[in-house]
Amino acid sequence: MDINQLLRKNIAALSPYSCARDEFEGEASVYLDANENPYNAPYNRYPDPLQKALKEKIAALKGLRAEQIFLGNGSDESIDLAFRAFCEPRIDNVLAIAPTYGMYKVCADINDVAYREHLLDADFQFKAEDLLARCDEHTKLIFLCSPNNPTGNSLCSSEIVKVIENFQGLVMLDEAYIDFSSQDSFCSLLDKYPNLVIFQTFSKAWASAGLRLGMAFASPEIIAVYNKVKYPYNVNLQTQQLMLAHLQEPQRIQAWVTELIEQRSFLQQALAALPIVQHIYPSDANFLLVKVDDADALYQYLVAQGIIVRNRNRVRLCEGCLRITVGTADENAALMAAMQQFINL
Ligand SMILES: *Cc1c(COP(=O)(O)O)cnc(C)c1O
Repeated sequence: MDINQLLRKNIAALSPYSCARDEFEGEASVYLDANENPYNAPYNRYPDPLQKALKEKIAALKGLRAEQIFLGNGSDESIDLAFRAFCEPRIDNVLAIAPTYGMYKVCADINDVAYREHLLDADFQFKAEDLLARCDEHTKLIFLCSPNNPTGNSLCSSEIVKVIENFQGLVMLDEAYIDFSSQDSFCSLLDKYPNLVIFQTFSKAWASAGLRLGMAFASPEIIAVYNKVKYPYNVNLQTQQLMLAHLQEPQRIQAWVTELIEQRSFLQQALAALPIVQHIYPSDANFLLVKVDDADALYQYLVAQGIIVRNRNRVRLCEGCLRITVGTADENAALMAAMQQFINL
C-alpha cells in the first residue's frame, strides 16, 4: 500500500509548522528560543510536541514501538485528523457500520466528506463481503468499532480481518472498550497490516476522560502523516505529566476493570429479573444496551430521580433501548431501586 496514493494532494505537499522544540532536542540550561515567559514554571514551557516520554511508556505497555503511536486530544482528534489527511472534501467518501459511535459521522460532516452506512444485522454483526460491496474508488476509510458503541458487542474478528485484507484504503478500528472485552486487541497485527489504524483511549478503562488523551496505533508512515497534520502542541503539559504518573500503576486500572466487569454481570442479572426488561444485549464493554417496555417513560423517570442513562430509542436497531453505563456497586443499586419504583408506580 502506498500511503501517498491515499493522502490528499495538499497534505502530501504540506511542509509542517516547525516549532522551536522540534529543532532543539535535549536538555539545556537557558531556553531563549520559543518566546516563553521565564516565570511560572513548569507551565511557562511548551510541552513536548511528540510526547516522547509518554509514548515510550505506552509502547512498553502495549508491546508496540513508539513510532507506531500517535497521541491526541482524545480519540476525537485521531478521528478528525484521518478525514483531514486522507479525504478530499466533496470527492472522497468513508464507510462505517451502523449503529455506531456518533463522532465518525460528525467529523465526516464537518469535513464535508460523504458518510456511507452499512446497517448491522440483528446480532449487530456484518459480513465483510456486503460491507466491501458499498465501497468505490473514492472510499478512503472504513470505520469499525469493536466492542461497538452503543451495541456493546465485539465484532466478529474474522470479518474484521477480511475487511482489512480486501480494502484498498485504511481500516479505522476503534478499540475504546477493548480493556473490558473478552476479545484480544488487534495491536499485534499492526506489523502485518499496513492499512490498519487502531484507536484506543484513556477515557474509559483508564478513568481519565477529563484529561483528554487518545491513542492511535498504526504504521510509522501513517503516524508520520498524523504528526505532520496535528496542532504542534496538541497534548498539554499537565495531561502528559498526569498520564505518565498514571502509567506507573497499571495494576490500579486492572483492579477497576475487574470490578466493573463484575458489576456488569451483577447489573445484567438484576435487570434480567425486571418485568419491563425485554432484552439485555451481550456486552464486552463497560455498558449494557437494554431493551425495555417504554424507553422514553423510563428514561424520563430516571432523570427525575437524578439518574442519567443514555436514551437510544431513536437509533436504528436500538429502538426501545437504553444504554446504561456500569457504575459503582452503590450507583448500580440506586439505578435498580429507581427502576423498581418505576415498576411499582
Ligand atoms: C468513549 C469513546 C471514545 C473515546 O473518545 P475520547 O475522545 O478519547 O474521549 C472513542 N470511541 C468510542 C467508540 C467511544 O465510545
